[in-house]
Amino acid sequence: MSAGKALPADAAPVILWFRRDLRLHDNHALAAAASSGRPVVPLFILEDGNDDAMPYGAAQAWWLHRSLERLTARLEAIGSRLILRRGGAADTVFSVADETGADAVFWNRRHDACGIEIDSALKAGLRARGIDAQSFAGQLLHDPTRLKTKTGGSYKVFTPFWRALQQGGEPDTPIDAPSSVRSPERFPASDRLDDWSLLPTKPDWASRFGEVWTPGEEGAQARLSVFVADRIGDYDRTRDFPAIDGTSQLSPHLAFGEISPAVLWHAARLDEGSRWTEGLVTFRKELAWRDFSYHLLYHHRKLDSENIDRRFDAFEWRRDDERFAAWTRGMTGYPIVDAGMRQLWKHGYMHNRVRMITASFLIKDLLIDWRRGEQWFRDTLLDADPASNAASWQWVAGCGADAAPFFRIFNPVLQGEKFDPDGSYVKAFVPELAEMPAKYVHRPFEAPAPVLRQAGIALGTDYPQPLVDHRAARDRAMEVFARIRGGH
Ligand code: FAD
Repeated sequence: MSAGKALPADAAPVILWFRRDLRLHDNHALAAAASSGRPVVPLFILEDGNDDAMPYGAAQAWWLHRSLERLTARLEAIGSRLILRRGGAADTVFSVADETGADAVFWNRRHDACGIEIDSALKAGLRARGIDAQSFAGQLLHDPTRLKTKTGGSYKVFTPFWRALQQGGEPDTPIDAPSSVRSPERFPASDRLDDWSLLPTKPDWASRFGEVWTPGEEGAQARLSVFVADRIGDYDRTRDFPAIDGTSQLSPHLAFGEISPAVLWHAARLDEGSRWTEGLVTFRKELAWRDFSYHLLYHHRKLDSENIDRRFDAFEWRRDDERFAAWTRGMTGYPIVDAGMRQLWKHGYMHNRVRMITASFLIKDLLIDWRRGEQWFRDTLLDADPASNAASWQWVAGCGADAAPFFRIFNPVLQGEKFDPDGSYVKAFVPELAEMPAKYVHRPFEAPAPVLRQAGIALGTDYPQPLVDHRAARDRAMEVFARIRGGH
């Protein structure tokens, strides 16, 4: 029996367990805890001790530190406090319940495989101890089990999923942050955030992140306001051009739950006769891709390690560590690929179009297993997400649900010329090519010697020769693919 049973029922605190929902607004678990009128103990657990449970790559650890600072300040502004603990989720919740006499634990559900497992085990454990356990929705537009095909199955193709999502009713209207939360007489002890060593030190490779990002829910709200005011109307036309700030760049905020997808859905409101309709609908559709990825993850718990199309189990991947390293460093000799990989390293982010190009290059030009790329992205993306990352990598590889067919192989030169026609995206991240004329900026290896000289480039010295010849690599990929094509 928990210590909470010794206290009068109305005085026993509620533990509010923060997870990937580091926000006060549109937070259903928080709203329920606050409106219960009982003292609330806000708790964040850095889950470790088990690789699967540690859901943060190195880049996200930086974000987490900054986001927890903001959450702490936000809670203090409404008279509360954030308790930080490190350890296994269940053990930590049990011990905080014992220390505080809490007889209820509220949280918002996580929908990744590990989160689901932890949730169910914890719920059972708490109830067995007589502690009320309540979990709430809010990470997605709809819980992943809500949308079902006519035969009650799961969706494998996006378009019918999107149709069902649109017909499934609007996500709940977002709720406000509580203006106050009752505190217990005494808060339990908390770790010091600095002692968690989440920020890199030597070298401080995250030093440029702060130029682009403001973690925390105020940062998310500010980005949303700019996006809705200036960009959403043109979103359908600009979202594919990496040199244009055409997308919301809200993905890291979403990954940490600093803003809810319901808030974004409702912000992209369709006013009747709006001339921005295409932009708004396209934006909502992208949010639906995020839900679709979680739907897939829910039905394929090993989405990051097992091909959905099992024919790909026999695919002959190459273990080419040198070329993999060149790809990670943005030294492939294909400027659009290199710009993307360097944007990732510098800002912990990469534009969606370029993610597709860099992923295709790794998988199809270098024949390196998509899972190595997925892991690299997981460690370096600030928005790394267990569902969207794995589903997107499988999608590019051609082994996923509703995937691009394997034989659709991006030509990195043509993609660059189409989506970055004057090379400004490339030049922003590959400064060696700053003086290259637009005609050759995506194909420096074809530039005549005087052009290279004028641009101050000695290929192979200042900027790499291409790692592979794209045409030959394409033929080789098709041969390897042909060997698994017929299999089931
Ligand atoms: P916007 O264009 O403004 O879109 C709004 C939101 O919709 C995004 O923040 C995101 O939550 C969602 N969204 C948009 N496109 C997609 C998509 N294709 N799939 C799922 N959700 C989408 N997205 C992640 O959030 N985390 C990842 O780890 C991730 N890994 C990816 C890996 C690869 C290889 C590829 C091709 C795509 C990946 N994406 C991932 C999807 C997409 O690239 C990003 O969501 C998007 O670039 C984020 O920028 P934004 O917020 O400006 O997006």
